[in-house]
Amino acid sequence: MTIFGKIIRGEIPCSKVYEDDLVLAFDDISPGAPCHVLIIPKQEGIQNLNDVNASHAALLGHMLVTARRVAELKGVAAGGYRTVLNTGNDAGQSVYYIHMHVLGGRDLAWPPG
Ligand code: 5GP
Repeated sequence: MTIFGKIIRGEIPCSKVYEDDLVLAFDDISPGAPCHVLIIPKQEGIQNLNDVNASHAALLGHMLVTARRVAELKGVAAGGYRTVLNTGNDAGQSVYYIHMHVLGGRDLAWPPG
């Protein structure tokens, strides 16, 4: 069980930004930008993009639609923001429960480190 699995089950608290039937969005505990929100599916068992197939398309699309909603709720939509899914060791993934980062509120360097 990952830390996000415990959050989705309500066993560990989080600072909730948005929730619906499919996803939960909450503030990152160690923010890398003024807005740093994580969006996770309520469906457990997807470690990262390497686990997804066509059956997950609607869920992944919903995560992107949620990112837009989160950006508006956090007031960064107009200024711009970045959505990131880290997949695997080389990308620095540290929690193996698929999650989308939504970062904004400052200039974001490109390419990322
Ligand atoms: P990854 O490196 O796997 O893409 O991102 C994992 C993210 O989860 C990191 O940005 C890290 O700060 C965040 N994180 C790790 N543990 C917790 C936690 O217990 N609560 C919250 N809100 N964020 C966490």
